[in-house]
Amino acid sequence: MLAMNYRGPQRVRIDNKPMPQIQHPEDAIVRVTRSCICGSDLHLYNGNVPDTRPGSTFGHEFIGVVEEVGADIRQLKVGDMVMVPFNIACGKCAFCRQELYGNCHESNPEATAVGGIFGYSHTAGGYDGGQAEYVRVPYADFGPTVIPDWMHPDDAVLLTDVVPTGYQAAEMGGIQPGDTVVVFGAGPIGIMAAKCAWLFGAGRVIVIDQEEYRLEFVRNFAQCEAYNFRSIEDPVVFIKKTTDWMGADVCIDAVGAEAAGNALNTLTGRKMLLQAGSSTALHWAINSVKKGGVVSIVGVYGPTDNLIPIGNVVNKGITIRANQASVKRLLPRLIEHIRNGILDPKAMITHRIPLEEVADAYRIFSDKLDNCIKTVLIPPK
Ligand code: NAD
Ligand code: ZN
Repeated sequence: MLAMNYRGPQRVRIDNKPMPQIQHPEDAIVRVTRSCICGSDLHLYNGNVPDTRPGSTFGHEFIGVVEEVGADIRQLKVGDMVMVPFNIACGKCAFCRQELYGNCHESNPEATAVGGIFGYSHTAGGYDGGQAEYVRVPYADFGPTVIPDWMHPDDAVLLTDVVPTGYQAAEMGGIQPGDTVVVFGAGPIGIMAAKCAWLFGAGRVIVIDQEEYRLEFVRNFAQCEAYNFRSIEDPVVFIKKTTDWMGADVCIDAVGAEAAGNALNTLTGRKMLLQAGSSTALHWAINSVKKGGVVSIVGVYGPTDNLIPIGNVVNKGITIRANQASVKRLLPRLIEHIRNGILDPKAMITHRIPLEEVADAYRIFSDKLDNCIKTVLIPPK
């Protein structure tokens, strides 16, 4: 079968790989009909995630048709069209029982933090992902969810990660009615977080990024304010000024670890270039939230990154909340929001590219070419 193959930093290609096999009675094999490239894949692509092995296939956002099921599968049958949450979760362990499906113990027992994730390095279990024609889905009686007949497949594929992650970013912010919410990052996750902030009663939503076309998109899509951090004096000062020097009630980090040279840190008044694995956005979030405010982090970092200016956190009495999104927990309410027209995630998809052109697709998404916001890969029929 055709599958994306990681060769090393910024080198991916399409290759032939063996068909995945059922390895466990709770597995299913899914024929992928659509997969996406995510900002999280860029951390892998740029070589910033430990133990990303050449030969791996990425892709944790995908939908498809059930082709084969293991002996213990009861909830799915061959031919079902399913969306598959990016978290690989058993549904039964102590963490899954708390609905912390991003922290499943069974799917990645050797890790101390994250559970299993499709196509996300050996630190997330070493599972192959869905940027391929077929994929093995473990614990298939728990994660995969049959796509309702009325749902557009582009909305379904965004329910596997982007929509729940944006929603959870807003939810973790504990937004109170009338709150000012600042979202750092206008990628798909930040765009969705800005949209969802209103659902929790925000009174004002501000998005910060550096890509004008993304700022323009989020202004229309999420009906919010959006500013380019390269054109305002300093995001922290800007946010303080515009909130009567109080600071934002809630700040959301939808950027994560930035590639080297991605941004300038104006925090200290001195401009300095940060190194790979660092984050300007997280510092801006912590420094522009009000005393007693909440910083919600969905941006992805390396497991041992140590980036929190803890003195400011303590002195301001900030609450920090963070996690991988717990997709399966949120799906029922998000499916309803799409059915009711409250959320229209597919509007973020700007590119549909054949799987065979995966190398170009990564370059376009990574380099923000051609006003790219979200890329879908389509396998051959
Ligand atoms: P993306 O790469 O498309 O978007 C990131 C955006 O951040 C870009 O538009 C970039 O211009 C902007 N940016 C860079 N530096 C900035 C700064 N200092 N301040 C403000 N904006 C800045 O990525 P995405 O798909 O939107 O994902 C965003 C983050 O969310 C990534 O770190 C990704 O790994 C993470 N993520 C987390 C989860 C989860 O479950 N926690 C799920 C999906 C994605
Ligand atoms: Zn993703």
